[in-house]
Amino acid sequence: MDKDFPTLNTAGLPLTEKIRNAGYALGFSEVRFCDAAPLTDAGKLLESWLGNRFHGTMEWMARTRRERRDPKSYYPEAKTIIVTAYNYYRENETIERPPTDGNISIYARGRDYHKVIRKKLKLLLKDIQQFLPAAQGRVCVDSFPLMEKPLAVKAGIGWIGKHTNLIIKQKGSYYFLGELLLTEELPPDPAMQTDHCGTCNRCQVACPTDALSTPYVLEAQKCISYLTIEHDGDIDPQLEKGMENWIFGCDICQAVCPWNRFSTHTEERDFDNRLPDHLFNLQQLAAMSETEFNDRFAGTPVRRSGYENFMRNISIARRNSASET
Ligand code: SF4
Ligand code: SF4
Repeated sequence: MDKDFPTLNTAGLPLTEKIRNAGYALGFSEVRFCDAAPLTDAGKLLESWLGNRFHGTMEWMARTRRERRDPKSYYPEAKTIIVTAYNYYRENETIERPPTDGNISIYARGRDYHKVIRKKLKLLLKDIQQFLPAAQGRVCVDSFPLMEKPLAVKAGIGWIGKHTNLIIKQKGSYYFLGELLLTEELPPDPAMQTDHCGTCNRCQVACPTDALSTPYVLEAQKCISYLTIEHDGDIDPQLEKGMENWIFGCDICQAVCPWNRFSTHTEERDFDNRLPDHLFNLQQLAAMSETEFNDRFAGTPVRRSGYENFMRNISIARRNSASET
């Protein structure tokens, strides 16, 4: 037997349960099913969001609006979408850093999740082909503009919170989502019908750039994650101040969310922190050459921002730190 295949004791289980167990054996926390029909309601919300220009300079989001609504534009043969969630939380990581440091989102401190999750979804497809030899599939981990959060709601994994991240009840939001589009028709799981944010608005209050002034709507053009990673060039001075010491991403709205008290330490060693303390030190980072940036952050998501944007973020964080002392 191929050593990549977990041995499955699957006698008597329905097919979806066999697949779910295969996913759990690969480390996924959630493995759920939905059909591949267009996401009509989410598509309307997207149109309104784009109409308000909340996407900032991410013009590719507007260009791909049609594909976003329809998963079959990625894989026309798809009949089922297997939506997965993978825990990346680490108990010993916090968003608190000393004033001399920059801050990097927790998800970006480990190995680039695209590679890790994509590999696991490909293994899941191989497992499925043990039960369904004719099944073909295509994996998506941010490689195509699928609307992965509405798909996760449709598959019943969780709800989209007021901070616009997907929240899994009793588990929290520190999860990477990934999808496997499959040619076989499988029974869908019930969609998530309930929102469990209630009267809470902690994320809205805590957001330092006011990017969540309307609940459930992210004004991405104000969000620190967008500003530090996606936005090229100068940043509005009014927003700069709110960026505090964040130099790649931002975890504030997730850190304050009460559902994340259920977060548990990931067992995935690929998501261990790869960044030694000195790679947070603003003074040392400011002296880094482009070659050093590429070497030191190799294999992590941090390289996605590019050297120029990263150095811009460091300059802003240094100004913000200086103005606090
Ligand atoms: S990631 Fe940070 S800036 Fe963006 S919405 Fe959340 S708290 Fe606000
Ligand atoms: S902080 Fe409160 S309002 Fe925001 S997503 Fe979490 S539960 Fe919902």
